[in-house]
Amino acid sequence: MSYQETMSPKERVMNALAGKLVDRTPAVNPTNVATVELMDLVDAPFPYACQDGEMAARLAATGYTELGFDSVSPYFSIIQESSALGCEMQWEEKDNWPTVRMYNPIWKSADDVKIPAGILEHRDMKAITDSIRMLKDELGDEVAIIGKTMGPWTLAYHVFGVESFLLGTVDNPDETKRALEKLKEISVLFGQAQIDAGADALTFPDHATGDLVSGEYYKEFLQDIHTEMVDALEAPLILHICGKTIDRMPYIAKTGMASFHFDSKNDPQAAMDAVNGGITLVGNINNPETLYARGPEEVRQEVYKCLEAGIQMIGPECAVPLATKIENLMEIPLAIKDWTAERHG
Ligand SMILES: [Zn+2]
Repeated sequence: MSYQETMSPKERVMNALAGKLVDRTPAVNPTNVATVELMDLVDAPFPYACQDGEMAARLAATGYTELGFDSVSPYFSIIQESSALGCEMQWEEKDNWPTVRMYNPIWKSADDVKIPAGILEHRDMKAITDSIRMLKDELGDEVAIIGKTMGPWTLAYHVFGVESFLLGTVDNPDETKRALEKLKEISVLFGQAQIDAGADALTFPDHATGDLVSGEYYKEFLQDIHTEMVDALEAPLILHICGKTIDRMPYIAKTGMASFHFDSKNDPQAAMDAVNGGITLVGNINNPETLYARGPEEVRQEVYKCLEAGIQMIGPECAVPLATKIENLMEIPLAIKDWTAERHG
């Protein structure tokens, strides 16, 4: 290797999030890289690793210690807040993510939205803040700790049910906006608790995905709220939306968020063109085909394609399938290092 790494993983990630120079492109996992193999390795299986801070920290640390990523992320699912709000849960086993049972939603209208007192002490929210505190103690000087707080759109799916929430956006958009305004307080509360616990950055998933809503929907219902989050939360924010999102990227680029975590359904160069320097990008190695079903060589080709487009941080497009082979995940940082060495050679 003919180039020298001059930054710690943490410095590398924080610089990339701030749009500053880096010694090489960081390998980042804004969602998470937990797999069954890693759960077995450190004896921290689902669903317990989603309920207990110590197990969550142990499993998250493997993203750095075993896979060589520059960040760790201890929030593995998208359900911690919804569970604390009282949604009915399907906890599953170690080979499946926990989910919210959405056929029996807890709320019907914006008036129902209430944040229970002491919600941060609920087991499933405390697991995340506890894990961040432990990771901060163990790895806080070396590696970037990325927390995660759900945006109001995702929370709305869970508490109202996807169908009834989306129908409401057509029938009564003012009511939808009122609900989002109230739900965003949960995003801020949990996000700030994670920052206070030691999170260096926060992923902000808000699943206004390409297959469910249009770019104009994003502009009407979410752009302002996401812009507001930048001031409300005192850490760099990484917005995460799955699916085709090129049509909303120009709006996303105006929110002031630090980065957008994008899906492999969007070409890296087309995404760079769409945001036009307004926001950094992180992604977008394909999960179901490449990381899950192919081998290191195909992973490497996708990493190179992202690097050539100028994507600022490289990682899987979303939470990886739990049966993903770890050699495929390890290939992401390795490919970045080789590509950088060749360019400096
Ligand atoms: Zn996703």
